[in-house]
Amino acid sequence: IRVRPLTCTETQRGDRRVVHSLSDGTVHVSATSPPGFRGAAAPLSCCCPHAQVSAARHDAIFGFSAVFDAGASQEAVFEGSGMRQLVELAIDGFSCTVFAFGQTGSGKTYTLMGPLAQSDTPAASPGVLGLMQRSFACLLEQSQSRSSDLALSASYLEIYNEQVRDLLRPGPPCALPLRWSKTRGFYVENQLSVDFESLEAIADLLLQGSQRRRTSAHTLNRHSSRSHALLTIHVRSRTRGHSITPPTQVPQPSACPSKQGTLCFVDLAGSERVKETGSSGELSVEANNINRSLLALGHCISLLAKSGGKRTHIPYRDSKLTRLLARSLGGSGITLMVACISPSSRCLSETLSTLHYASRARRVTTRP
Ligand code: ADP
Ligand code: MG
Repeated sequence: IRVRPLTCTETQRGDRRVVHSLSDGTVHVSATSPPGFRGAAAPLSCCCPHAQVSAARHDAIFGFSAVFDAGASQEAVFEGSGMRQLVELAIDGFSCTVFAFGQTGSGKTYTLMGPLAQSDTPAASPGVLGLMQRSFACLLEQSQSRSSDLALSASYLEIYNEQVRDLLRPGPPCALPLRWSKTRGFYVENQLSVDFESLEAIADLLLQGSQRRRTSAHTLNRHSSRSHALLTIHVRSRTRGHSITPPTQVPQPSACPSKQGTLCFVDLAGSERVKETGSSGELSVEANNINRSLLALGHCISLLAKSGGKRTHIPYRDSKLTRLLARSLGGSGITLMVACISPSSRCLSETLSTLHYASRARRVTTRP
């Protein structure tokens, strides 16, 4: 869980902080909380997965594996969330996914990319770089220090109004077909995959792609992402001394053992109440598409959490988003979910719903 600081606007208009994190991985949400909320919360305190909600209905405590309060640095989030381990697992050949979810304006894009991708001022200070840039650096460092060569490539897609678009392809956006095959599962046809060897090159791909991403301004966030974005790094590793099979060639069966891992970053478009964001016309069509796909995702997560690892039908086909995330959610992947929340009293009900969503997501198990 990541709680962002109150913004200037929120402070100026007198919003109260209703989210408090305790040092033991719990989040306390209280509409009525006085500064000494610890005592008042005592009868409720319990480490969940399920939240304990008091009679006041807006007073709840949730337990999570890691909670980052407003003061936590980007580095603390990278080191404390397990992101570094996820990068290492991707190098070891696992499919790893990290996704950020939460209300519009709650800090998803900031957590993943820092302020860089949203502003016109080019260089953000290294201290505020997000999980993505830190992972890229870690990946490239590891590739130099390990005794294997890593071949790295990236693809970057967005799902906008239920259409899959390639963010790395120059020119006007065009929709790509999403297909399914027995061997590959769901995949996007004709998506571009670009090889890279340096930190500058991947940072540049990220910047180019995120500038193509569909954003609109509304009352909750001036640069609100209106699409779900998925950046996938493909990591192919081979023991040093053997040449790497180029992506276009079929690997030789007799070739030296190679591992293929992926590291996928998912920046979900935020959930929103249409009336709070002042969306109308085209914006409300976007909002409805976003909300529908998030609902489909929530539904899949609920069913996966309930199934407890048993085989059940999961309706991945309900949205493009759930199709693309099928492997990360229920398959053989390892997934880190970062729930972003605002501490403001005005966001209370959305914050509670994100925390409930996150509690359910915590119970999903995969089989890496
Ligand atoms: P989202 O992607 O969830 O819609 P953003 O990441 O765009 O939200 O964040 C909304 C605003 O809050 C941005 O101006 C961003 O710079 C700021 N912000 C978010 N998280 C933090 C944080 N941890 N520290 C400082 N500013 C933040
Ligand atoms: Mg965003």
